[in-house]
Amino acid sequence: MKKFAIKTLGCKVNQCESEAIQNALVESDQGFASCDDGMADVVIVNTCTVTRKAAMQSRQAVRQAIRANPGARIVVTGCHAQTAPAELAAIDGVDLIVGNRDKHRIHQQIFAEVPKHTGGDTPAVCPDIAGVDQFEVLPGIAHGGRTRPFLKIQDGCNSFCTYCIVPHARGRSRSLPIDQVLNQIGQLGRLGYREVVLTGIHIGCYGQDLTPATGLYDLLCRIRAAGAIDRVRVSSIEPAELSDDIISLAASGEDGPGRLCPHFHIPLQSGDDRILKRMHRPYGRDYFKELVQNIIGRLPDAAIGVDTLIGFPGETDDAFENTYALIHSLPVAYLHVFPFSAREGTPAFSFKEQILTSVIKKRCKRMRRLGTDKRRAFYKRTIGKTAIVLVEETRDRADGRLKGLTDNYIPVRFDGPDDLTNTFQQVDIQRILSDGVPEGTKNEHRTLVSA
Ligand code: SF4
Repeated sequence: MKKFAIKTLGCKVNQCESEAIQNALVESDQGFASCDDGMADVVIVNTCTVTRKAAMQSRQAVRQAIRANPGARIVVTGCHAQTAPAELAAIDGVDLIVGNRDKHRIHQQIFAEVPKHTGGDTPAVCPDIAGVDQFEVLPGIAHGGRTRPFLKIQDGCNSFCTYCIVPHARGRSRSLPIDQVLNQIGQLGRLGYREVVLTGIHIGCYGQDLTPATGLYDLLCRIRAAGAIDRVRVSSIEPAELSDDIISLAASGEDGPGRLCPHFHIPLQSGDDRILKRMHRPYGRDYFKELVQNIIGRLPDAAIGVDTLIGFPGETDDAFENTYALIHSLPVAYLHVFPFSAREGTPAFSFKEQILTSVIKKRCKRMRRLGTDKRRAFYKRTIGKTAIVLVEETRDRADGRLKGLTDNYIPVRFDGPDDLTNTFQQVDIQRILSDGVPEGTKNEHRTLVSA
């Protein structure tokens, strides 16, 4: 048996791709077994480059893998590998670099054995990704180790927001055809999964590249009609692409399988119109405000998560306050706060009026505090209610209790036996624990088969 380990940095798409590679290796007849870091014959590091820090952490992870696995072949892939192969090739001990374009084939290179790199240029397979127009189907379905598997249905992005390196790392938008999405969801349903999280880089563009062209709403309708899985969640969707149809679908889906969770993670980035324009974002603050109000008007308990990008060049105190005030005024459930990071190769890298790091830090701190308050208020609303929870495979590490997630993205803990895992349970929420998570007791009167 050859042992391998995979280290993953970055977003859900990267995680999904790593899980697919892992399954392709384990399920092959080539004698591969997954192992802990430190005992591997092959280590794959799946890197991220979304911020300077993520790129730096990716290089650190590569060095750490080399130190921890003496003698192992070190294969580096992912977004940092695609955009900066030379930086990774400069690390002594890297044996092979594979860009995103060939990531879906990485298992084949591992089957063929990666030679130890002993001198000269580090072998790198990183052709330009800009011209790729077909969705590269992953080598396996990403499941295992997760109650709610991710399913990658789309890759790439055509938007080129002025701060974003992702289109350079991932190429143009391309989609997994509907039939294949349905097929993979069918497989997940047969494996016993109850929920799937649809992931992509720019999921709102889903289907525009297919022939005939289709869209995310059509896909969600087809998933619902197929009824192969109980819940469907969309990982993240751009404000301009969260259509009325999609919101209505979530609002009308309270019974039956295949329904869309009332949970929308929306990248706002800034609440200031001038900054949004400089970012090349195709909406304004009023549009976003109406969108959130529209969702909550139809789905009062919906979880609305918001990404903010703080400290974009030219973000004055007033511009930041506009973002802060907009979020403060809206029924947002949680925030992800990202400090602006100038990425070489993007227009914003050379924009004037760069903001001091100390100012960015201060603004992020305030915004994160607002996010904590929003989350607390959102969770608090569950006290005294009965939540339907999909119970996870693993218990809470700290207190050993069962944990699960509601359709509107609220984590819940409660006591119960192991055989409740991967089932839907009704939990009466009684209080918020000191770590902020709602706690309750299982409602013994009804057991749900599906929810
Ligand atoms: S929409 Fe903008 S922020 Fe999102 S991946 Fe595309 S370029 Fe980046």
